[in-house]
Amino acid sequence: MTGVDIALDRVVRQFQLGQEETIDAVNDVTLVIPAGTAVALTGPSGSGKSTLLHLIGALDAADSGRIVVGDQELTAMRERDLSRYRRGVGFVFQRYNLLPALTLLDNVIAPVLPYRTHFDKVSRARELLAAVGLGDREKSLPSRLSGGQQQRVAIARALIGQPRLLLADEPTGNLDSRTGGDIIRLLLGLKSDRGMTIVVATHDPVVASRCDRVIRLRDGRITDDNAVDADTEGPALLERVRGQIPN
Ligand code: ADP
Ligand code: MG
Repeated sequence: MTGVDIALDRVVRQFQLGQEETIDAVNDVTLVIPAGTAVALTGPSGSGKSTLLHLIGALDAADSGRIVVGDQELTAMRERDLSRYRRGVGFVFQRYNLLPALTLLDNVIAPVLPYRTHFDKVSRARELLAAVGLGDREKSLPSRLSGGQQQRVAIARALIGQPRLLLADEPTGNLDSRTGGDIIRLLLGLKSDRGMTIVVATHDPVVASRCDRVIRLRDGRITDDNAVDADTEGPALLERVRGQIPN
C-alpha cells in the first residue's frame, strides 16, 4: 500500500448564515497532496480546517470545484459510491467517540462489523490494539482508560478497514502536550509502516512540525504552504484533475 494522491481544484464550500449572508468556509482552494505525505492543516479557529477535511473525506460535499482522491472523483460520485469511498477512509476526531458499553476489541471491530472483509476481523483488531500499545487491554471498557489511551483505541479503530487515507481533526486537542506528542508520533509511525496519506487539522504546533508539510488556512484560503515537492509532483497531479483523466 502506498497511500493515495489527493487533488483539489478550485474547491468552494459555502454555508448559509440566516437569510442573506453566506460564509465561504473553503474559498477557492487548489491543492495537491502526493500519496504517502503527512500534511498538517493549521490556522485559526474558523479558518476552514474541518470543512476541508470533511470534503476530502466525503462527509460533506463541495459547492464547486473538483476533488479527486486516488482514482475517484468525489465531486462526480453518487451517494452510494461515496459511502463505499468513506468506508475506505480512516477518521480520527478530537473526541474519541468510543462506544462505552463495548470492550476495546469490539470498539475496534465496530466499523467493519456490518461488512464482509477479506481479513479476519478479530485477529486484525488484536494486531491493531497491539500496534497502538494496548494489546493487553482488549477486554477493558473505554471508561477504564486515560484520554491518550482512548485516542489510541480510536486510531486502531480508524485503521481496521485498512485505509490508504487517514483524516484526523484535532486528534490531540483534548490531550496534554506530552500525550499529544506521543499520539502524533504513533500516527506517523503507523503511516510509515502502512504507507498511508495523512491529513491532520491541528492547532498544535508540535503536531504540525512533525508532519512532512504544513498548510496554513485563513478565511477558507491557503495563506502558507511549505510543500517541498509541489514543483515536481504537484502540477502533474493537478493536470490529471483538470484534464478529467481518472488515473
Ligand atoms: P476550523 O475547523 O478551522 O475551526 P471550520 O471548517 O469548522 O473551521 O469552519 C469554517 C467556517 O465555516 C466557520 O466560519 C464556521 O462557522 C463555518 N461553518 C462550518 N461548518 C458550518 C455549518 N455546518 N453551518 C454553518 N457554518 C459552518
Ligand atoms: Mg475544526
